[in-house]
Order: sequence, then structure tokens, then C-alpha cells
Amino acid sequence: MILSSLGTYPTPVERLRQLERGGVSLWVKRDDRTHPDYGGNKVRKLEYILPEALRQGARRIVTVGAVGSHHVLATTLFGTRAGFEVDAVLVPQPRTAHVVANLRADLALGLRAHAAVGTWSAPLLVASLLASASASAGGGDAFYVPVGGSSALGALGYVDAGIELALQIRQGMLPKPDVVVVTVGSGGTAAGLVVGFAKAGLDIPVLGVCVAAPVWMVRIMVDWLVRRTAERAAAHDESPGRLGERARSMLTLTTEFLGGGYGVATDVGDSAILAGAEVGLDLDPTYTAKAFAATLAEVERRSGGNVLYWHTLSSASLDPLLAGTSDADFPPRLAKLLR
Ligand SMILES: *Cc1c(COP(=O)(O)O)cnc(C)c1O
Repeated sequence: MILSSLGTYPTPVERLRQLERGGVSLWVKRDDRTHPDYGGNKVRKLEYILPEALRQGARRIVTVGAVGSHHVLATTLFGTRAGFEVDAVLVPQPRTAHVVANLRADLALGLRAHAAVGTWSAPLLVASLLASASASAGGGDAFYVPVGGSSALGALGYVDAGIELALQIRQGMLPKPDVVVVTVGSGGTAAGLVVGFAKAGLDIPVLGVCVAAPVWMVRIMVDWLVRRTAERAAAHDESPGRLGERARSMLTLTTEFLGGGYGVATDVGDSAILAGAEVGLDLDPTYTAKAFAATLAEVERRSGGNVLYWHTLSSASLDPLLAGTSDADFPPRLAKLLR
């Protein structure tokens, strides 16, 4: 189904000895290195999304995200390279240097950014963009990608990732983890991962660290994604229902590290950023700091065994994408989104 792969796989697994305690071994899956120009977890989702948009004959991709969204940036970078025009409806997010840099890179790459003043107006804006696209091209012109790239289609990229880890375990590159810790935003990463483990016949508890609220909605979203992804990923002789159930039973969601909500830094997250820096991992306050804090807590509370942290943030420098962009202020409609 993949036309030609976008990223570089398998991503490495490494041991983080410096942060090990009490006989627990700590490992990291380096999905920060899925692509040399821009890595992170969104690349794996685009492996399926972009070929499908091409197959459907779309010329534009319409998506949605927070103003500093990694998904919007990855979609803009790889979407425009594949020849698409990219439109994104952007919703507000607390202003940080990282968020500002992402928006600057989006605009330099030619993203057509549409500001939604509140989360409630985003679906209306998306609908009007899709309607105008089909009106101008007689339908089928625009391909819609949901927030975070988390459709069942996008999650297939993480089914592959789960199978990839299973192979690395089989090859003896790491021991079978007793727990895998991963960030849960829109849920496609965690959903795909557990379906991938189930397909590979691996039974590994996955701790999904929620970074967005309301949590009941995240739970519904993840359950739905696991079911739909299992339907797409099941082989002919496999029951999609049973595959989905096995996958879902591996996944536990926690809100213990959410703090004040999406994009709001926490003290334990800030400590995790410092710990990550000690071992060469760059973490962000919105997603990975919270998941890495949960990882360190897992190491603390266990006596022995193996913990694997699944790293989802790109570690590529944005400098090449920012070269030639100015520090001038954003247009007021976009500046308003940086709270
Ligand atoms: C998008 C993102 C996530 C969350 O992935 P979902 O599939 O949306 O749950 C985690 N970490 C980083 C760095 C991200 O950009």
C-alpha cells in the first residue's frame, strides 16, 4: 500500500543506562528519527495518508490542529513535497518559542493557515474549506485529514511500528518490555501501536499518557480508533473484532501527568525535560515531557524489568526550514492564536 516510504525504518532502539534505577532497564524507541528533515510520529501516519490522497486524485489537503501543531508542520512539509496544496485550520495554543518556530516554518513552507478563534469554530471552517474545494473542482479535489493525522488510515503507520518493534525484540536488540510508555494526544499512535503488537502476537502493557482533555472524549476516540484500525489491519484469516479486543486490552490510559491541560507545562514535566537532556533526548512541554515523566515514574515504582519509552518528537533542527524567514510579527489573525 505504501508507494515509496517517506521515512527511514526501522528507527533505532537505545538503552538509557544513566536514568536506570533499582535493577530496571530503560529503553527508548527513537521515532524522533523517522526522517532526517523532520521526524517524530506524524511521519509514520503520512506514510499511509499521502498515498491515499494521491490515489483519490486530490490536489489539496485540508487539516486542522493547534497553532504550533507538529502534525500540521509534518503535513505541510511532506504534503507540499508530494505536490499538494496544504490548508490548515488552526486553533489557539499557549505561546512558547517552539510553537512560534513551528508556525514560522509552516508559513515558510507555504501553508495556507486559517485561524479559528475557538475550538468550536474549527469544524465550521473545515467544512467551508472542503465545500469551496469541491465547488471549484467539481468534487474530490480536497482530502481531509483529521486532527493529529489520527484516522484509522493514519494509525496504520503505527501498526507497522508495533510490528517493527516486535522484530527488533526477536532480533535480540532489546528485551521484551514490561511496559511501553507513549503520549496520547489524538490517539492514533497508541491505537496503531497496540494493534501492531496484537498482530505480531506480542502481549505488552502500553501506558498511554493523556496530554489533552476531556479525558472521556480521548477514551472514546482511542477505543474507536483501535476498532477501526483493527478492521483495516486484520488479515483475511483474522477476526477484526478479536484483534481489536486483544489490542484494546493492552492499553491503559492515565491522566496523572496532564496537569493544567493541553499545552500547559507541569513541574514534573519540566524535571523530565532536564532528565531527558542528560541522556540526549530533546523533549517538549506539551507532549513528550509528560510521557517521559510517566516513564521515570514507572522506573521508580518497579523493582526490576524493562521499561520502554516511545519517543514521538522530531529531533531534526528546524533551522533549514526557518532559513530566510523573518522575525517579523505574524499577521494579527494568526498572532491572536498564540495565547
Ligand atoms: C502528535 C504528537 C503526539 C500524540 O500522538 P497522537 O497520535 O496524536 O496521540 C505525541 N508526541 C508528539 C511530539 C506529537 O507531535
